[in-house]
Order: sequence, then C-alpha cells, then structure tokens
Amino acid sequence: MNTNNSTNDNTDNSTKKQTSCADDWEPSVLSVTDARTKILENITPVSGVEKLTLRSCLGRFLAEDIYSPIEVPSHPNSAMDGYVLAGNDLPTDEPRNYQVIDTCYAGVPSSKVCKSGEVIRIMTGGLIPEATDTVIMQEQVKLNDDGTVQIKSGHKIGQNVRLAGEDIPLNFKVLEKGHQINTADLGILASLGIGELRVYRRPRIAFFSTGDELRSIGEPLAAGEIYDSNRYTLYAMLKQQDVDILDMGVIKDKPEAMQQAFQEASEMADIVITSGGVSVGEADYIKPTLEKMGDIDFWKIRMKPGRPLTFGKLGKARFFGLPGNPVAVMVTFLQFVQPAIYRLASGKTKPMITLKAKSQSKLYKRPGRYEFQRGIFQQDDNGALVVKRTGMQGSGILTSMSIANCFILLDEKCAGVEEGDIIEIQPFLGSL
Ligand code: AMP
Ligand code: MG
Repeated sequence: MNTNNSTNDNTDNSTKKQTSCADDWEPSVLSVTDARTKILENITPVSGVEKLTLRSCLGRFLAEDIYSPIEVPSHPNSAMDGYVLAGNDLPTDEPRNYQVIDTCYAGVPSSKVCKSGEVIRIMTGGLIPEATDTVIMQEQVKLNDDGTVQIKSGHKIGQNVRLAGEDIPLNFKVLEKGHQINTADLGILASLGIGELRVYRRPRIAFFSTGDELRSIGEPLAAGEIYDSNRYTLYAMLKQQDVDILDMGVIKDKPEAMQQAFQEASEMADIVITSGGVSVGEADYIKPTLEKMGDIDFWKIRMKPGRPLTFGKLGKARFFGLPGNPVAVMVTFLQFVQPAIYRLASGKTKPMITLKAKSQSKLYKRPGRYEFQRGIFQQDDNGALVVKRTGMQGSGILTSMSIANCFILLDEKCAGVEEGDIIEIQPFLGSL
C-alpha cells in the first residue's frame, strides 16, 4: 500500500479540500476509534426486564442465568437403529447367533430383560433396556432365516449409546445472564422444557429527518426539493437490530419545531437519531436549540464520508445527529450508532470484524481521513478474497451502497492503493 503523501487524489484537487485536509490533523478533530470509544463510554445498558415465551426470545439478551432443570438426554438411548445387548455378552472370537426377544422404539421402551444369547431390536432414540449397554448397527448384523441375528466380534462395550446428561447435565449453567439467544439456544431451551425466559427489554430508538427541502413519498417535488430517503435507510438498518422503532417523520429547519421533536423523542426513546443539519452553516442553526436542551457535542471526525457528527445527552436519551448525505448517514450509523445500540441492548461491545482482501482496483486517497469506500468482495477461483471498488464514491451516491457488500477501510495514513495490494474490508451484515 502506498503511504506516500505525494499521491494525487484525482477526484478532488481543490485548494479548499487541501485546507480541510490539513485541519484533519487538528487535535480537536477526533479519530473514528476515539469517537466510537467516547460514544460507547456514554451508553448505559437497558435494565428493564420482561418475561417472554421462548420463540419471542430469539435475539434477546438474557436477564438471568439458565440452569438445566433436567438432564439432556434424560435417559440413555440408542444412537443407531440396530440391536442392543449386554456388552459382556458380545462375541469375543467367532460370530455368534442371538435370539431377538423384543423391539424397542423411541418413546416406547422395552420391559424385557436380555439374558445371555439374547438381544433386543432397537431404533434410534430408543431407551436402552435394563441389563444392556451396547448397540450394534443393523448394517453390521446378519439376519438368519430362523429369526436369530448373527453378530461378529470386534465391537466395543458401550458403543452407539448416548448417555443420560451427556449433552447437558442436571443443574448445569447452560446460558449466562447477558447472553444473546441464538437459533441453537431456542432448541436447547426447548430440550430442557423451558418455555419462558426473563430478557432485557428492547432498546427504543426514535429518529427523524431534518430539512426544509425534504418531501415525503406521495408529495410532488417543487424545484430544489428531494424525497426524504434517510428515514428509509435508517428504518432498514434499525430493522436489522431488534429494537423498537419510532419514526417521527420530517422536521422543518425551525427551532420551535425541532425543539418540540427533540423533546418528544427524548421522552420516548433511549436513543434519538436525526439526519441532516449538522454540516457547516446549518450546524449553527440547530446548535443553540440542542445546547439549550441537553448536553451535546459537535464533533468533527477524521473520516470520509461522515465528518460532522453530533453526539450527547438529551434528557435520559442519547442523541446522534448524523450528517444529511445519504451515504454518510449509513456510514455513521454503522460505525457509531450500531455499536451503541448493541451496547445499550447487551452491555457489551462487539468487535468490528474486518477481513483482508486483494484489491482489484486502484484506489485514490490522500492521507488525513479514514475513508469508508464502498466495495464488492468475493472469492476468486482459488478461494482467495478479492475486492473491487463500486463506481462513484460521493457521499450522496446511495447506489454505491446498494451495489456494495462491504466497506473498504483506508486508514488515515493511507495515500492510495495499487491494484494487487492487500487491504482491509468490513463486510456488511448478511454478506458472508
Ligand atoms: P445537511 O447536512 O442538512 O446540509 O444535508 C446534506 C445533504 O444531504 C443535502 O444535500 C441534503 O439535501 C441531503 N439530505 C439531508 N437530509 C436528507 C434526507 N433525509 N434524505 C435525503 N437527502 C438528505
Ligand atoms: Mg439540511
């Protein structure tokens, strides 16, 4: 990777941009990592608890430790369809014929007791009968015309038997408080006969768009007006988070309207998200409103896209003022809001997983900001990860996010990437 300062970013060579690049190194400008750390330090996990039926608990965080009330399996049972007998009655040398004295199905135990020279036919899951401990697979047994079965030597005592409690012993701590219930857990809890759980309530997230130019779908567009798309991408990203979503619509760039919306949102939600109105020029406009109402910081972050970000406290809620540009909204949500929601829901921090991939594109970048370019990664014919850039990378080009399945992460020092360089990518949810 080229870290030489002289590489030109041919997408923007203006003097204005160079000035802005210089202030990226100002001490007051935060790095992405520092901004994320500051945000996470300010998130207090939800403490409210609710009791839900098992299926409704998928994705929720446990508010209690779960101990096994029974063993799983609850009884020793057969792992195979076959014949069960006492291990000490196995043939030691020559094949031997056995009488079949009963059949045992899963859920229908046999009450017969095998004596020497006797076996019981058993199906997978069938309870191991008294005085037996070893199952011979039916494929390894020869059926004789007289109804007896022939078993050869070479079997091991205890084979093909699932022992009681071998998966989960009694009173075992199966799941810990704080654990997020996953698909396998639902099955495990069902196997323990547990039908209800105490879990933490979902975080409540309110959001609205700000901007006099924004119109809702269905309204005609006058000159200079655009449809509000951020509320839809925000809705979609929140939908993937297992949170309660409160969509508050579009709020005009008027202090009174904003103040009222901020007030209502902060009373209902744990996190309030807005988009727009934090860039230079407009920031001053909503700044006094927010400063009057809460404890809000206006940050410049050394990143692209998504440089301006507002974060702080609004009543009991945490407030995120995301930029207005559609791609910047998605980038800042995924880098800052999503980890905050996870912390709020779970009390934990999830590491941001990155992968290494070979770049199939030459990437222009100047040192200064951490860039989240949009990429498409896949496996090449040899199974190695490769990534190429989506087309235009402007922060208003939302189609670049639609085509992409990952962010290409270019750190502050990076001064461009040559084709063939190994670079870091951050896959999108569901892209693996
Ligand atoms: P702002 O930060 O409010 O100056 O907005 C930056 C850019 O993003 C402007 O071009 C806005 O028109 C655009 N923008 C702001 N909010 C939205 C939105 N909700 N949907 C689509 N574009 C938006
Ligand atoms: Mg605006």
